[in-house]
Amino acid sequence: MFKKILIANRGEIACRVAATAHRMGIKTVAVYSDADANAKHVTSCDEAIHIGGSAPKDSYLQWERILAAAKQTGAEAIHPGYGFLSENDAFATACTAAGLVFIGPPASAILAMGLKAESKRLMSAAGVPLVPGYHGADQDAALLQREADGIGYPVLIKASAGGGGKGMRIVDKAADFAASLASCKREAINSFGNDSVLIEKYVQRPRHIEIQVFGDTQGNCVYLFERDCSVQRRHQKVLEEAPAPGLSQTMREAMGAAAVAAAKAVHYVGAGTVEFIVEQSDAGMKFFFMEMNTRLQVEHPVTEAITGLDLVEWQLRVAAGEPLPLTQEQLQIKGHAIEARICAESPDNNFLPATGTLYLYRHGAHVAFERGDVRVDSGVREGDTISPFYDSMIAKLIVHAPSRNEALALLDVALSQTHIVGLQTNVQFLRHVIRSESFAKANLDTALIERERAVLFDQHPVANIDAIEAAVAHIVQTEKAFEGNDPLSKMDAWRAYGEATRRFDFEMNGIVQAKSYKASQLLALASQSTLGLQSIYPLKHDSSDEMHVFMDKGAAIVKHINRLSLVAAQDAHAGGGLNAPMPGKVVSFSVKAGDAVTKGQVVAVMEAMKMEHAITAPADGVVGELLYAAGEQVAEGAALLTLKEKS
Ligand code: ADP
Ligand code: ADP
Ligand code: MG
Repeated sequence: MFKKILIANRGEIACRVAATAHRMGIKTVAVYSDADANAKHVTSCDEAIHIGGSAPKDSYLQWERILAAAKQTGAEAIHPGYGFLSENDAFATACTAAGLVFIGPPASAILAMGLKAESKRLMSAAGVPLVPGYHGADQDAALLQREADGIGYPVLIKASAGGGGKGMRIVDKAADFAASLASCKREAINSFGNDSVLIEKYVQRPRHIEIQVFGDTQGNCVYLFERDCSVQRRHQKVLEEAPAPGLSQTMREAMGAAAVAAAKAVHYVGAGTVEFIVEQSDAGMKFFFMEMNTRLQVEHPVTEAITGLDLVEWQLRVAAGEPLPLTQEQLQIKGHAIEARICAESPDNNFLPATGTLYLYRHGAHVAFERGDVRVDSGVREGDTISPFYDSMIAKLIVHAPSRNEALALLDVALSQTHIVGLQTNVQFLRHVIRSESFAKANLDTALIERERAVLFDQHPVANIDAIEAAVAHIVQTEKAFEGNDPLSKMDAWRAYGEATRRFDFEMNGIVQAKSYKASQLLALASQSTLGLQSIYPLKHDSSDEMHVFMDKGAAIVKHINRLSLVAAQDAHAGGGLNAPMPGKVVSFSVKAGDAVTKGQVVAVMEAMKMEHAITAPADGVVGELLYAAGEQVAEGAALLTLKEKS
């Protein structure tokens, strides 16, 4: 076995590979870009080498530097993870030429499966079923049109070199074909540097079911069952599960045999995935080869869960020349596993990726589950940022239980306990998906998200009143705990008949609303420990205190617009300059309340993006109040202190 390996990747997959290597007593070398200098994967490895700028082309795709880093540190093998260089046959060849082991298939297998059209010709020869279509080398537009007409509409045009859900066009009728072909070719040349396309029958309401395969250098090859990855957005996977609901044992074996035949046709070694598209009709299910991914897949943990195996360990053993640890007969499915990809994105805004700082990032304790377990694979920690340079995936949540229903219930709990503050995520969206009728009943196909649109988007799941009650309880409890205030000390001066009231102004989902509470109600809220409430996290902004309320039913953001922050916001607006220029940490204040300051005087120091920034007084005045303590995290634009004009 290797003594030391280099991991040519970042994020959760680099951390994932390092974990298995360490368990096996193998030392690890990380590589990192400027943006990743303090990343989790760097601290997860024994050594780390800086390889360049933040953009992937300046670092994680710079394979000469990666090879040099391996040589320099004495690593014997390179694990490419997924994405980046994992399916780059030239890199695999260069590793071998440099005397390093590429932990993946031979370069020839990557090359053979790299182009969709060529791999389909190969698969057809190996007897693997294909979607009816045209995979020829002749790219004459008139010929392609005739082929499409012959297949019958709708058809799918795919960039032969495409991947990651890019370079595909659905064409509904003959008249639209020419325009779609031209636009697909444009995207293909820009994204993949190759404008060859293939044409396929567009399968209606298909399922995406893929088979995990494994080969060794002795010529053995097995399949580790299937994963259903039908739930997709923009042709990209969102939820993956194993085994595939409703798949008969006969069909499983047929798909497994086809996948092994596909792998053997290219003398496959290591972990690979054969993706099939499955047509569902009254006559039953029919599967067709779609493509082979010649690497470890993002969703491999669901296979690990149902087989009880560590696929990275298998990869390392096979790369070191050992035979596969188990035979086909020894492999078994146990229980049901589901993976949810937690991403920084805005589902209501066409899944636009989001960036920002994870001010708060917590997963539940996950210890009290009697049946089943929860696994979290993540490449980030609280306080880290999701930058625009890489993938928007924050974590993968994987649950495993005896049955699908139990796994679903567990996933819902695990999602409800995933608390993220600081950027937009798809956590609530995922909860809506798994609770939708289609998903709950395993009525799966690639159009599930479209079909369930009405219950998935623009949902404000927590009844406003619950979140507001929680916020009010939090406010009065915090005042009591930290300021020693009697819950009734801040009642409004004006009282409507009899009981005094206190008014709170909130903004939720863009709507400003006021709520008045009577003294008796406030006392009740102040003494109540929970309101079906799990957690509430405050985050200060210049014009409000944001309260992130996480409840069993869902999460909500309640902004408390209090008078103090309104004054601070107005001051900041009038004077300017007292606000945090970017998200960061308050290092120190050089003034205190009541101090007289002159224009341009340094009043506070902040640290953001590894640099210190001095905050200076925009005008002469007197310090009103410090709104933070040194060491606190602040959001971009937050007022740090208030300044009053000198009277
Ligand atoms: P999986 O089937 O494992 O989800 P994907 O096809 O979604 O795999 O890709 C896995 C990783 O590789 C992702 O990080 C994705 O962004 C990246 N990736 C795959 N193909 C491409 C491509 N052609 N261009 C850029 N990134 C890609
Ligand atoms: P990529 O390399 O981008 O992963 P794939 O060929 O694997 O491309 O296809 C991605 C997704 O597109 C599939 O998971 C499926 O949802 C859809 N798709 C692909 N081929 C077809 C088809 N012939 N008919 C209908 N949908 C398809
Ligand atoms: Mg694919």
